[in-house]
Amino acid sequence: MEEGSKGVRRTCGECGDTLDDLWAAAGKSVCPALACQAAATRRRQRERMALRTELARRELAARGVDPTRTSWSVVPSFQGGAVPLPQAHRAAFVAHLIAAVDEAASRDPGPSPSTPVAARTPAPAEALAFEAGCRSCRGHCCRRGGTTAFITADTVRRVWSRHPDLTPATTTEYYTRFLPDTHLEGSCVFHTATGCTLPRASRSDSCNRYLCSDLDDTLRSWREPEGPSGTHYFAAISLEGGGVTGVASTEVPRGTPRKADRLDQIAHAHGRLTGHGNAGGIAPTPPGSAASNSRPTELGGSADPPGGG
Ligand code: SF4
Ligand code: SF4
Ligand SMILES: [Zn+2]
Repeated sequence: MEEGSKGVRRTCGECGDTLDDLWAAAGKSVCPALACQAAATRRRQRERMALRTELARRELAARGVDPTRTSWSVVPSFQGGAVPLPQAHRAAFVAHLIAAVDEAASRDPGPSPSTPVAARTPAPAEALAFEAGCRSCRGHCCRRGGTTAFITADTVRRVWSRHPDLTPATTTEYYTRFLPDTHLEGSCVFHTATGCTLPRASRSDSCNRYLCSDLDDTLRSWREPEGPSGTHYFAAISLEGGGVTGVASTEVPRGTPRKADRLDQIAHAHGRLTGHGNAGGIAPTPPGSAASNSRPTELGGSADPPGGG
């Protein structure tokens, strides 16, 4: 800051140039230059990561895990509590679904444009590792599912290609039967304390493929020649909620593939190939049942993770 003829002049926290009066009056601390805005964003991200890391260290230590002697990483954390699924959300989902089904029905018949659940080489040990991460996180990424669950006409056509007996009307019935009575507040209509109530094969590709940057970073670290072995801990940290959802651990198997196909990793991360639930068939599993959500064990909690999407 510097004194000017109009009083205190503010300067850009990155380049040091004097800030425009209007810009300063709006409470900005960085000038509008793209380079400065980008630098400020990177700085904020570093500060947030440092804070998450420190909170994770404390959380691990509080659970008797020495963070200096074990492999661990931070994942996001969803803090929402269980509430009755609002009728308005239910209605909005049904409206969205009907539109998706209508669009799917209006298209020319042909192969589904959506990638089917492919028969890729399983890597179950790694799948367990990622499931532990999503379990501790409780599905931060599922917030964006909202009242659409990311379901599109492509999703519907993929489901139809596997189950040609379904009609538009029964498709809507099929999906709505999985709507839970109670979901996690502020998240997807299918997101519950015990995970995603939708069978994996009926979730959107977005749900089945998404991998957050925290898990992606962990995966990269595992592929390093000097990557960890033994137990790896995931600490789920939320800065917004000011809390920790949980800590889950898994074993990093010896010989973790260093050059595995990324799609394989993602598919396994989301349990698509590990035989969980009824991923291979549409026969409904009651929402919230263990069969539709089964995942590996967790430290300090019992909830199955969400779809991880
Ligand atoms: S992929 Fe989603 S559920 Fe899994 S850790 Fe990342 S944000 Fe959480
Ligand atoms: S994985 Fe399930 S809970 Fe998460 S966004 Fe997808 S449908 Fe919703
Ligand atoms: Zn600047």
